[in-house]
Amino acid sequence: MLDQTVSELVKLKRKLYIELVSLACQDKLVEAEKLIYQLIREDTPRYRCCQHKERAILRERIKLALGFDIEDNIPIARLTELVDQEPLDEDIITILNMACDSCPIDKYIVTDSCRNCAAHRCLNACPKDAIYIISNKAYIDQEKCIECSRCKDVCPFGAINENVRPCVKACATGAISSDANRQATIDKDICVNCGHCIRGCPFGAIGDKNRIIQVTNSLLNPEQNTVAMLAPSFPGQFGYNVDSATLKTALKIMGFNQVIEVAEGADKVMQAEAEEVLELKDKGANLMTSSCCPAFTELINKNHPEFTENISTLTSPMEVTAAKIKSENPEAKTVFIGPCLTKKSEAARHKTVDEVLTFEELLCMIVGWEINLEKLSPIEEFNDSISDEARSFPASGGVTAAIRSELSESDKSWINFEIASGLKECSQFLKTYKPDNKFSFLEGMGCEEGCIGGPGRIINTKIAKKMVEKFIKSQKNNKTQQVKQIAKL
Ligand code: SF4
Ligand code: SF4
Repeated sequence: MLDQTVSELVKLKRKLYIELVSLACQDKLVEAEKLIYQLIREDTPRYRCCQHKERAILRERIKLALGFDIEDNIPIARLTELVDQEPLDEDIITILNMACDSCPIDKYIVTDSCRNCAAHRCLNACPKDAIYIISNKAYIDQEKCIECSRCKDVCPFGAINENVRPCVKACATGAISSDANRQATIDKDICVNCGHCIRGCPFGAIGDKNRIIQVTNSLLNPEQNTVAMLAPSFPGQFGYNVDSATLKTALKIMGFNQVIEVAEGADKVMQAEAEEVLELKDKGANLMTSSCCPAFTELINKNHPEFTENISTLTSPMEVTAAKIKSENPEAKTVFIGPCLTKKSEAARHKTVDEVLTFEELLCMIVGWEINLEKLSPIEEFNDSISDEARSFPASGGVTAAIRSELSESDKSWINFEIASGLKECSQFLKTYKPDNKFSFLEGMGCEEGCIGGPGRIINTKIAKKMVEKFIKSQKNNKTQQVKQIAKL
């Protein structure tokens, strides 16, 4: 079952990606502008005032889909020619001002449920005298209101609503506020490019730059060696009947020369991270945090810099895997495929990984390529030497379990293992952390439930977790079969 929360906006976005990839496959990308009129027709259901506005917004979405800034004032046809020269950008999240509906920003509003009761508790509770009775109903003077919520708390009819803009609610870092025109704006000094606000905005006014066309062009170039690096959260994302071997077949048909599991890198990271934990503990440090989630490490770097020194010095499994591929084949183009948007920023910073796609983007590419996953036959299996612990990294608690598996019982007894899942919990931990005489290891993940909850996922997190477990079990069965066969020999 695909994620049921998919909105009309997500469907439109996916349709656009599919059409763009399809044009690129036919060597007709230069005609991308015509999609604006094909996708927004006279009879297309309207979500905004007129088709002209919807088309103008779609034009901005095309620029983002090609990997450019919306401010780039260059005709779409010209952008399609420049697409391969556009580097991966660290700053990927952007507000489409034209699409922003300037949702109400008055936090407390009196609704029609107000009875103008005799008690008038709201009036008495307000410390700023911001409430008046006008036309038999309470009224809040927004100039005076300090958003303390006391009026809402005391109203016996629940007549006072608390409004929080959906984008503001979705952003756990507090990076979103309103500009002078009441439109949403992102403070880039705080934003960690996690992309949770994209799903939060019901007007589709927040978008991210992506790289579907750059990857498509690389795959269409027979001279280019392109390697797919699959994040450990991939099982089940492309359909419950699509097993790992079938997905690998599809990637090979598209032109990927190799398909590698990033869990290979996770295996190395968990061993080295366990060693680092012991080193720091012996040096008398109090706290070490994981480093594999770039949203979490950016949260520390930008919003809690006092903990920067506590971040593990290791690079992420994605970086470790890409470095190994490059050491064996320096000309290879590495493409990370996962549920994560922040990985695009991480790749742009470190420059070891060449391109990043989300699962959702890869699915659009598969459809644009006209590959029917249900009809493919599996041709190859995955690397059987990867540990179950490394493959468990994407679920909350997975990194901790992997590190624990590397430590002795006596070492474990000296360590507090803490898990923070989602940026809100991560911030909460960092704000309230007090060192004690026991060493703490914090697994910090920017997404609730871990990477399986990343905004570029296709299926819901509960099912994703089960599918990862099922894949691990199936690989274990493969190993058991092999051991039995070797024993027979
Ligand atoms: S921190 Fe995340 S949710 Fe907040 S604005 Fe940036 S990308 Fe959006
Ligand atoms: S938890 Fe995983 S998917 Fe979410 S931001 Fe961190 S690395 Fe990306």
